[in-house]
Amino acid sequence: MPAEHQRLQYLEALGIDVWVPRSQAPEPAVLADEPTIISDTLTPDWEELRTTVAACTLCELHRHRTQTVFGVGNRQADWMIIGEAPGAEEDRRGEPFVGRAGKLLDEMLRAVGLDRSTAFIANILKCRPPNNRDPAADEAAACRGYLERQIDMINPRLILAVGRIAAQQLLHCDTAVGRMRGRVHTLNNRQVPVVVTYHPAYLLRSPSQKRKVWDDLCLARQTVEDLQT
Ligand code: URA
Repeated sequence: MPAEHQRLQYLEALGIDVWVPRSQAPEPAVLADEPTIISDTLTPDWEELRTTVAACTLCELHRHRTQTVFGVGNRQADWMIIGEAPGAEEDRRGEPFVGRAGKLLDEMLRAVGLDRSTAFIANILKCRPPNNRDPAADEAAACRGYLERQIDMINPRLILAVGRIAAQQLLHCDTAVGRMRGRVHTLNNRQVPVVVTYHPAYLLRSPSQKRKVWDDLCLARQTVEDLQT
């Protein structure tokens, strides 16, 4: 696909309007086949971790949850997407990012040729904080080992941290997202590159920031491509 055509498709997937002179408008895209769903290869370790998380009582959040939200996607993913914590819908369905923000996250992923079956999506917390409040420090600390284990087992080429909580928790800092985005960070103790971007829930409130997210996704994609060459 020509680069310009591809760029326009990505921007469209993100919901960014682009004005193109009629003479330059690309031919309508031919829809690709449904993406191949790469099945989750279940290893005993992975299933053991899932079982441990499901029964976790390390912090008080277990008292309020309907169920834990372990994460979803491909165990061999190049991209790991990490958000904050399950909300009401995620708590009900047991899957991360399935509410309105999740739909936008899906579009963000689609913009770089990914979906829920090719990336792996998880959160800093596996349980929903009441009233969707920010995770408390002790809750994030209690859950950290599970996420670390997932990162170890998936061994992604890149982590995309979506939103302030994910970025600050992963990078152990209290810097604003606006100051963290635009460059590649490295996860402590591991050589995993981390790109920070805005949370899709924030984008729903501030759609004018979508361009910046597009830039972040391009940076992330470039980082993965550079690692492959
Ligand atoms: N927001 C998040 O950060 N994670 C979810 O799973 C849902 C909403």
